[in-house]
Amino acid sequence: MPRTINLLVIHCADVPNGRWTTTGDINGWHRARKFKRQSAARSAFNPALDAIGYHWVIYTDGTRATGRAPEEVGAHAAGHNADSLGICLVGTDRFTPIQWAHLAVLVRDVCTRYRIPIVPADTAAPVLRGVIGHGEIPGVAKRCPGFSVRDWLLQGMTPDPQHILLKD
Ligand SMILES: [Zn+2]
Repeated sequence: MPRTINLLVIHCADVPNGRWTTTGDINGWHRARKFKRQSAARSAFNPALDAIGYHWVIYTDGTRATGRAPEEVGAHAAGHNADSLGICLVGTDRFTPIQWAHLAVLVRDVCTRYRIPIVPADTAAPVLRGVIGHGEIPGVAKRCPGFSVRDWLLQGMTPDPQHILLKD
């Protein structure tokens, strides 16, 4: 029985903008925080990653890397892991144009496949359903990711120029 997915949560890796970071790096940080994948899930998908909590990570060069399998419960949004999926953008609050482009593609793909509405989740609803930034979840105090996912969605997935990392 596949789990029901209601929510897609967007995160940032909280590393300096533009710094090259991989799922292996994030896996190490999550292992240090005692995150642990179940061995059956691990042997079925990305066995080298024993801890990573996210389902996808978007690198600074736009690469869409995988962490946990979508059918596997993640470890990225306390209280909401059971019915959500998690995407992490490498950086903090500025992302490369190709990261933004690939985020839009991934959000559309995931929402279509798992029947998640591509709208900001209504934070007053009893069950969060839609797309949300980690820090926009009620009760979460951290600034993650470093931009408003709600505004990005309402602007047709167009990033605010101040959040675009351009090479100099
Ligand atoms: Zn987060």
